[in-house]
Amino acid sequence: MQIKSIENVEIKNKRVLLRTDFNVPLKGNKIQDDFKITRAIPTIKMLLQNGNQIIIVSHLGRPEGKRVKSMSLAPVAKYLSNELKEIKVKFIFDKLSLGLVKRIKSLDDRVILLENMRYEKGEDKNDLKLAKLLSCCADVFVNEAFAACHRTMASMVAITKFLPSYAGLNLAHEYKYLIKSLNPLKPAIAIIGGSKIETKINFIKKLSKIYDAVLIGGGLANTLLSARRYEVGVSLYDKDYIKLAKTLLRLNNVVIPMDVVISDSRMLKARVADVGKNKSLCTKQEKILDIGSKTMKHYSDFIRAAKFIIWNGPMGLFEQKKFSHGTMVIAKAIGARAKGRAIGIAGGGETLYAIDMARSGKYYDFISGGGGAMLEFMEGKVLPGIKPLLIKNNLKT
Ligand code: ADP
Ligand code: MG
Repeated sequence: MQIKSIENVEIKNKRVLLRTDFNVPLKGNKIQDDFKITRAIPTIKMLLQNGNQIIIVSHLGRPEGKRVKSMSLAPVAKYLSNELKEIKVKFIFDKLSLGLVKRIKSLDDRVILLENMRYEKGEDKNDLKLAKLLSCCADVFVNEAFAACHRTMASMVAITKFLPSYAGLNLAHEYKYLIKSLNPLKPAIAIIGGSKIETKINFIKKLSKIYDAVLIGGGLANTLLSARRYEVGVSLYDKDYIKLAKTLLRLNNVVIPMDVVISDSRMLKARVADVGKNKSLCTKQEKILDIGSKTMKHYSDFIRAAKFIIWNGPMGLFEQKKFSHGTMVIAKAIGARAKGRAIGIAGGGETLYAIDMARSGKYYDFISGGGGAMLEFMEGKVLPGIKPLLIKNNLKT
């Protein structure tokens, strides 16, 4: 199915309600990572070029209907003003009301940012009244918050009942590439690592059906090794998911590491061990913190032979240099194939930091900004934020 996007319709001289995901990490008033803001800039610029006035809404953190000062979007307004240079973003911190809507409509600022939508009790309840009130500010709704599309929120889902609704440029891109990932060019491989198998088990199962191979690393691999009865000591792994992990081991295209980097519990000394016949891989005090060099080579060979590669989740504790090699090798190997010999896509949270660290981002065909949203999309779910934006006929994308 196709998505209704601002790429394909002309929105001119309108009041546009733009839902973004400005859920940025903050330290006091300082924005730690502006990735989520920069992703929305092309849409903001395009809407401005077409003479629209933009009223931006977003959530930040989980204030659960309370006005928690540390979760204010005020620092984002400042940041956005700097990014947009000649345009000053008007920040409105008042609670939403009919009076406020009237005031907003009387403003002639080109960009207005409303305070954290989760300060409103109805936001997480997908409240129709809140959505209706919000809709009175604008003529058109644009969703540019892919990373939040797996959540049912009033300013994201209920709002579409009241305004003509479209996907922003980035959301439309996310959709296009993730749809491609569900029907990839072959041979296709997925590389999945990270910390919690709980959040990724359905993703792995789904990909093992469509992809030729699913290569596992990180804490996920530790859980699978434990399911194979290897001693994993005090490694990061999910004890409660051993039974489910065993179901993954029965899938013959799920590949686990052939060697791993093991460290003492204080992470001072590292050694490499083969995953072989000897089930006592670690001592009870040791932990597995990276894939070993044989695995790096093995996984790189898969990458070199693939036409489509999707990656989510680091191969180890890459935040520490000693244990970053596996993740860096994978990040660079995908970058070397992507945008040409293969389509290379990545997504997640920490995965994006890893790609930044490897300075490989510019070589990827697409980097998804949605962690949970991307996983749920790839599991085959129709995300609540995306559903109202789809064109309901059977046009193939
Ligand atoms: P993403 O957000 O990209 O989907 P996850 O949140 O699933 O990734 O996992 C990322 C985290 O997993 C990173 O902080 C990384 O340090 C950690 N990690 C991966 N492998 C290991 C390991 N073997 N031991 C400890 N931490 C690990
Ligand atoms: Mg994460």
